[in-house]
Amino acid sequence: MKNILDLNINELQNYFEQSGEPKFRVQQIYQGIYQKGYTNFDQFTNLSKKLRQQLAADFVLRSFQELERITSPLDGTTKFLWQLTDGMKIESVIIYEKKRVTFCISSQVGCALDCKFCATGKMGWLRDLTVGEIVEQVLQMKELAERPPTNIVFMGMGEPMLNYDNVMQAADILADEAGLNFSRKKITISTSGVLPGIKRMADEQRPFRLAISLNAADQQKRLQVMPIAKKYPLEQLFEAARYYYQKTRKRITFEYVLIAGFNDSLQDARNLVALSRKVPCKINVIPVNSIDENFPAPSQESVARFEEAIQESVYAVTIRNRKGWDVQAACGMLYAENEKKQLKLKTDKL
Ligand code: SF4
Repeated sequence: MKNILDLNINELQNYFEQSGEPKFRVQQIYQGIYQKGYTNFDQFTNLSKKLRQQLAADFVLRSFQELERITSPLDGTTKFLWQLTDGMKIESVIIYEKKRVTFCISSQVGCALDCKFCATGKMGWLRDLTVGEIVEQVLQMKELAERPPTNIVFMGMGEPMLNYDNVMQAADILADEAGLNFSRKKITISTSGVLPGIKRMADEQRPFRLAISLNAADQQKRLQVMPIAKKYPLEQLFEAARYYYQKTRKRITFEYVLIAGFNDSLQDARNLVALSRKVPCKINVIPVNSIDENFPAPSQESVARFEEAIQESVYAVTIRNRKGWDVQAACGMLYAENEKKQLKLKTDKL
């Protein structure tokens, strides 16, 4: 059955028009779903019983179940594993900081891009998420979070630019004034460097923030960890970034996952500084959440040295702590753990 969260205001309007209902029904539905947090149609007591029954026959309002939830005793980072209606699983994370509460959401089940340091990349691409499945992650976490979200980032499973239409429609729904009214500036679409998506976002003047996962400041090194760099080399990536800035005048954030012995030397820092001068940008340095011994996490001293080396030359640098490293908070890790458990259960039964 269709998820009502798939529909934007216009689509809902068409639905009610076809059902012979007045236009203001859309506002009632949007308010109920996004402002009052209703989770089933019985809660819409401002609608007739007949209409509630019709809606329940045509749509679902929640489509997936919580399979696992792990909260870090260190910093409260909470990771969720959801089961979708077809049995597939995705992850979302709530990251608590002093003033910020970031909801990190998925855009695909699995991912085709196979970044070497990422557990999701090992799954391969299984399917795109629907608009409703993207929106629902935010609504479900909003019900469970200690504090409401201040930021939403598309940095969970999947490459958002490879599910562009659904990601943008979901972001539009989350930002709609009649609904959640989430600030467009606080929604970040993160890409590993899929150039057509970056250009399209610029041409369409999408009001959301753009982050690019860089992870290495020279092409050869980037290729070692991000196979996508073969199709879209670093030089072209920066041309696209400049194009984006010229069109939108918005600063891009470059994400740099710091891996010990791979991209954390002073020379790497100098290369990163040189690159960052090519386009107005901010840099987020994120010590890796290690998935295997090939990608060890850097020591605190090495993070501090790297930060110091780039700090003065770059417009803004943020060092993100390894949030929730004790709860498999890196993308795809909880999924992988759950799969292992399922496999063990099956083998134990044999
Ligand atoms: S880091 Fe992102 S783009 Fe790369 S494999 Fe993981 S989910 Fe895909």
